[in-house]
Amino acid sequence: MIPVMRPWFGEEEAQAAAAAVASGWVSQGPRVREFEEAFAAAIGVRHAVAVSSCTTALHLALIAAGAGPGDEVIVPSLSFIATANAVRYVGARPVFADVDLATQNLVPGTVRPHLTGRTRAVILVDQAGAPADLDALRALCDPLRVTVIEDAACAAGSRYRARPVGAGAALAAYSFHPRKLLTTGEGGMITTGDGSVAARLRRLREHGMDISAADRHRSQQPVIEHYTEVGFNYRMTDIQAAIGLVQLRKLPQMVARRRELARRYQEQLSGIPGLLTADDPGYGETNYQSFWMLLPDESAVGRDELMRLLAEDGISARRGIMAAHLEPAYAGDTPNLPVTERLTRHSLILPLFHEMTQAQQDHVVSAVTSALTKSRPEISVPAR
Ligand SMILES: *Cc1c(COP(=O)(O)O)cnc(C)c1O
Repeated sequence: MIPVMRPWFGEEEAQAAAAAVASGWVSQGPRVREFEEAFAAAIGVRHAVAVSSCTTALHLALIAAGAGPGDEVIVPSLSFIATANAVRYVGARPVFADVDLATQNLVPGTVRPHLTGRTRAVILVDQAGAPADLDALRALCDPLRVTVIEDAACAAGSRYRARPVGAGAALAAYSFHPRKLLTTGEGGMITTGDGSVAARLRRLREHGMDISAADRHRSQQPVIEHYTEVGFNYRMTDIQAAIGLVQLRKLPQMVARRRELARRYQEQLSGIPGLLTADDPGYGETNYQSFWMLLPDESAVGRDELMRLLAEDGISARRGIMAAHLEPAYAGDTPNLPVTERLTRHSLILPLFHEMTQAQQDHVVSAVTSALTKSRPEISVPAR
């Protein structure tokens, strides 16, 4: 099977992890600090706080934004379910807004109708790596003192108005799950320009402790720690950070390779009438974390049928981005989201990974093209 995604690991990651183990310090320590500094520099922000996943990053970002019971947080339903779940963790209510068809992201026009006196924050997702228009959303939200949190889970390496995605957000959250480009197995990061917010995030990820275990260990004098508020164990390990440091250095190459492969997909699929594929928005560059395509309304072959045909040809495709409001966990909430529903029902994600060969990609293109351009074969009734 041609996989939909595969991490790009080499000997270097294995050696970095082995060195962390050999050092005897495997929980959050010097390598986590080094990874945070390198990540902050790569994004161009003052502070980066490493955590155990993007889900936990979003949870802490919402606490930092002051969201709690009685508050509303506007989110796209069209996202991995963790975006909405994080709002539930703080006791606030996720309010689902529709997205723009071409970028699959929230835009001011879809957010505006949902703003109320109870809106505390908006979670802006850079879906499938495509940068969302942060400045346009902040122009709407900043005057209302509504915090815009960027869910950049997929978007490390993407660019927004000539800067790395997340650089302009009060709080941005990233994922290092293997389905994204840069991976540490599991892991996440929060970036912010605010030093006191960063300090609070560091305490919250470590049980609310006022001094980290690593700093206590390094101290010459005995130190008694205090717990300033109820926190969590959302730490990243030094083994993960060691891998992350290597992966971060390789990120530009990963993005370049994905953009090259995505360009080939766009060219070779451009002959299929009515097919819409992932692309750069005018104001930025996507890392193509996922290469999606939306089937034309008149397509003779439906999305699920196309996925089945591709699987028969040894190609592992995935449905497009899920819609949280259609899942049982959010039953009872029936928002009107026509673009979201069209995208989630009629789009799919094609294989795209760093070490994908041209021959593999040609195979995917020819399987997609023949499935979508040939009319449906007659159903043959076996003779009795
Ligand atoms: C993957 C993803 C998450 C969750 O990331 P984890 O690191 O697996 O917790 C959150 N939001 C979006 C948009 C994602 O794609």
